[in-house]
Amino acid sequence: MPIWNPWHGCHKISPGCLNCYVYRRDESIGKDASVVTRTGDYSLPLKKDRHGQYKLTPEGGTVFTCMTSDFFLPEADQWRQGCWDIIRQRPELSFHIITKRIDRFTVSLPPDWGEGWDNVTVSSTCEDQERADYRIPILLSLPIKHRQVASEPMLGEINIEKYLASGLIEQVCCGGESGDKARVCDFNWVRELRRQCVRRGVPFIFRQTGAAFLKDGRLYRLERRLQIPQAEKSGYSYVPGTGCAEKIRYTLPERGALFARLARSDFRSRFRLTDKDREYIAAKGMETVLSHAADFVAQKLAPENPRNDGRQTPMRGHPVFIAQHATACCCRGCLEKWHNIPSGKELDLVEREYIVGVLMDWIERELKS
Ligand code: SF4
Ligand SMILES: [Zn+2]
Repeated sequence: MPIWNPWHGCHKISPGCLNCYVYRRDESIGKDASVVTRTGDYSLPLKKDRHGQYKLTPEGGTVFTCMTSDFFLPEADQWRQGCWDIIRQRPELSFHIITKRIDRFTVSLPPDWGEGWDNVTVSSTCEDQERADYRIPILLSLPIKHRQVASEPMLGEINIEKYLASGLIEQVCCGGESGDKARVCDFNWVRELRRQCVRRGVPFIFRQTGAAFLKDGRLYRLERRLQIPQAEKSGYSYVPGTGCAEKIRYTLPERGALFARLARSDFRSRFRLTDKDREYIAAKGMETVLSHAADFVAQKLAPENPRNDGRQTPMRGHPVFIAQHATACCCRGCLEKWHNIPSGKELDLVEREYIVGVLMDWIERELKS
């Protein structure tokens, strides 16, 4: 990973900083990470070899900038202008700045910044909802060409869908914390954030599990070298329109266990067939109801990202709609939560038949009761 660290050292300002890796690494070599110093690499992007070629020419062009500090740290105000001057001279590179201090973005901004530079991507960190609600509106209000959001370390469930709806956030990533004292990262938070990105068509990267990863009620302790590969292996990153989510492996719930779980939900068990629904079924016959169910599933649930997802199933008007709510087959979010079927993928034949099977099963049980 090509990195340019113009200065080193930082101050903790936010819950995400608690186990900061700069501090951890410095402590391990007896260094004080709170001392902020300019590094010897300050002008690295301008350095040339003896053939007059730039030394920093990463494949792909991305340079992660200021990874051993925060680019917008107050102590670095005096040096930042110089960095902008350097960045201006390498328009072919893409400088990626990850910050917890987006509220200081405009301090020492160059006079020719205008609406932002094409070669600068700014990623605002938001480890929890409070930080998200403070920092993302600032990120959106600033003149920046490429904006990203990073929930790393992810410390709780966050809802940022209203910010994603702006269309101004190009990518979201998240991941758990590493180190001996790592706080827990719950896979449900990851899945929930991913759902928001799928609904809004924003690329989502699940970067790493962290060292303490909670999945399906079980806490996993992962060594550093496994944290990134395990996240990759899960397949839970999402790039719209690429079919990437097809790689996710999961198991459909067993029917008996599913119905038992649904019966324990007050919300789900409140849905019952009305007399009108029963009359409708008697008049049309089960064959017709089944073909309607197959149609609804194919049209309103099966696409990679169905239109109006979350609101595509009416609360009444057809016995299949009632069955969909009663069995949590009403939208892709519910299909993911209750049936493990990941969102952001087109439903295949097996999945569609499974859903229709669940719906018809529920209707038959209702008719008998
Ligand atoms: S802002 Fe980043 S580098 Fe600075 S203390 Fe917090 S986590 Fe560490
Ligand atoms: Zn639903």
